[in-house]
Amino acid sequence: MYIDGKWSAAESGKEFDVLNPATGEIIRRVPNGGAEEAIRAIEAADAAFRDWSRTTAYQRSAYLYKAYQIMIERKEDLARTMTEEQGKPLKAARNEVQYGADFLLWYAEEAKRVNGEILPSARSDQRFMVLKQPVGVVAAVTPWNYPISMITRKIGPALAAGCTVVMKPAEATPLCALAMFEIFEAAGIPPGVVNLVTALDPKPVGKVFTSHPAVRKLTFTGSTGVGKMLAGEAGAAMKRISLELGGHAPFVVFDDTDPAHAAKGGSLVKFLNTGQACISPNRFFVQNASYDAFVKTFEERVSRMKAGSGFEDGVAIGPLVNQAAVDKVDRQVQDALSKGAELVTGGTALKSNGLDKGYFYAPTVLANVTEDMLIYREETFGPVAPIIRFDNEEEVLTRANDTDYGLAAYVYTRDISRAMRMFEGLRFGIIGINDINPTSAAAPFGGMKESGLGREGAKDGILEYLETKLGGFSI
Ligand code: ADP
Repeated sequence: MYIDGKWSAAESGKEFDVLNPATGEIIRRVPNGGAEEAIRAIEAADAAFRDWSRTTAYQRSAYLYKAYQIMIERKEDLARTMTEEQGKPLKAARNEVQYGADFLLWYAEEAKRVNGEILPSARSDQRFMVLKQPVGVVAAVTPWNYPISMITRKIGPALAAGCTVVMKPAEATPLCALAMFEIFEAAGIPPGVVNLVTALDPKPVGKVFTSHPAVRKLTFTGSTGVGKMLAGEAGAAMKRISLELGGHAPFVVFDDTDPAHAAKGGSLVKFLNTGQACISPNRFFVQNASYDAFVKTFEERVSRMKAGSGFEDGVAIGPLVNQAAVDKVDRQVQDALSKGAELVTGGTALKSNGLDKGYFYAPTVLANVTEDMLIYREETFGPVAPIIRFDNEEEVLTRANDTDYGLAAYVYTRDISRAMRMFEGLRFGIIGINDINPTSAAAPFGGMKESGLGREGAKDGILEYLETKLGGFSI
């Protein structure tokens, strides 16, 4: 763990195993921290806040820029650590490291663009001044699916704003977090400004994060269930909250577009990270006349996707995170088949060709999916594409919005008026129009409804770490 600028073991001396999900082998053991370490880390962050919050924006920008440069120098090592620990293909891991580094660069720039306002008053003897100040100590909880970029997406803006941070990474991916904190140390970020607590059981650390009076803000990325629980506790203690939670993205294909082009895009984005992404499409709505052509192209592309270790050339499908994830995917697939879905390809856990030690599931396409199936509403977080027919625009807009989630949505159409109507009508925070990658450090990422609160990235992202203070001056 990294607390107050020092690397340390757990007070108990305990450690836990980090596994390679493609082989089930132990990669390394890391300290198993808990409430005590979380408290120590918060106290260090609290002590460091006074000086860090008084540094100039230019100084904070320089630290972030330095960390960005080191990240780029270590890109290949970081990508290999990610593939080993999390499983995604090496090429995708490299892309993620770049995406992660982009947040450090972006917030190195944005640090210098935090400004207040002078407002006119109705009284001639009064002046109003609005100041933006860092919220204080930030507690951050990050997930395993994007184990590097979800760190920089939080720590970049927090440090830029002048906050100090205590972070707990997911228990499946502490090695990526350790590698990132080595970078923060190498960048010379002062002791106590960033702190890392690794833990096998997240609950005791989570309790400290939501209850310790020095923590002024909780930022969380993970499942909706855990996010709601932590937000409830943190909200009751009146801490600021940002949440990036689950999704159930619709992917809508209209008859006015090329179904093969849409299927190509859809199959790419669905199987990215083996479907373990909160913006992964979870319902493909395809208009009647395009339906058969869309399913055919989808099948051709998906049945060719190779599963295996992310270090192997040509592998598109890495392992799932654990056995529970494989079981959940299979439960949704079996439920859909039992209710009349058609299995286009896939549909089973993969055990042959040396895959039996890892957590592999065949890339799967289900056609004729209907509303009574679990997969129609439950987030899958795995490599399954459910395809659904629809008749008209009005109907599909209503059906696409009929979910508790509201993170990402995708639309394929060549009709510009329709594109605008769908963009405005969909109740989701991120809409890809003929576009499968509507993400960037420069763009606001976040959801509506049960997909979360607040935005990460862009100029919006730093506001989540700033308080607004009003000064009224009588002259
Ligand atoms: P997933 O189901 O995708 O693993 P989780 O929400 O369980 O998502 O995990 C996301 C992050 O939340 C991880 O860092 C995990 O350790 C953490 N987490 C899970 N449960 C709790 C909890 N009770 N308190 C604090 N953090 C938690």
